[in-house]
Amino acid sequence: MSERTPRIGILAVQGAVREHVAAVRDAGGEAVEVRLPRDLVGLDALVLPGGESTTMRRLIDAYGLREPIAAMARGGAPLLGTCAGMILLAERIDDGDGPVFGLLDVAVRRNGYGRQLDSFEADLDVPSLGSEPMHGVFIRAPLVTDVGPRAEVLARDPDGRPVAVRQGRVLATAFHPELTPDRRFHRLLVRLVAEESRRPA
Ligand code: GLN
Repeated sequence: MSERTPRIGILAVQGAVREHVAAVRDAGGEAVEVRLPRDLVGLDALVLPGGESTTMRRLIDAYGLREPIAAMARGGAPLLGTCAGMILLAERIDDGDGPVFGLLDVAVRRNGYGRQLDSFEADLDVPSLGSEPMHGVFIRAPLVTDVGPRAEVLARDPDGRPVAVRQGRVLATAFHPELTPDRRFHRLLVRLVAEESRRPA
């Protein structure tokens, strides 16, 4: 059976889009920038990039993207949210904002690493993606303050706090995997598409 190249959208209303486009291509996917609901047609997966989650939330609603993205997720399409994208996926946001997509059983605190640690880098342990540590770039990253039973921690920072989480086909990182050459998260997204397409209908 020949497998076609997965078509992976990158939400492009605001934020770090270009690096994800390059990362998706490196990982073997076709990258499609998404600004309007019609851009979602025919996509196999979607990346929610870093940026400013309050701005992204506003633009997602202004462009009518909330329901079609939620529908895509309900249909089983894999999602990857990085940094602000993780905030968009979380069920609980500590500062009182309601959830946007609410697809990940975690609580996050925006900019939760505090001003001293505004931006930092750390080597991360990601056992399910191999023994090699992953270099994590954190930029005003959300802090995961709680992980519920439906979500699974994929990576922790050196202090043991969760920084990558998975719930089925939904993946999220507090750091920016698109800013380093390590493509393990983007490759996992591509792999989830392949698995999804082999599931019996
Ligand atoms: N601090 C941003 C927010 O709360 C996220 C930062 C990022 O995506 N680099 O939306």
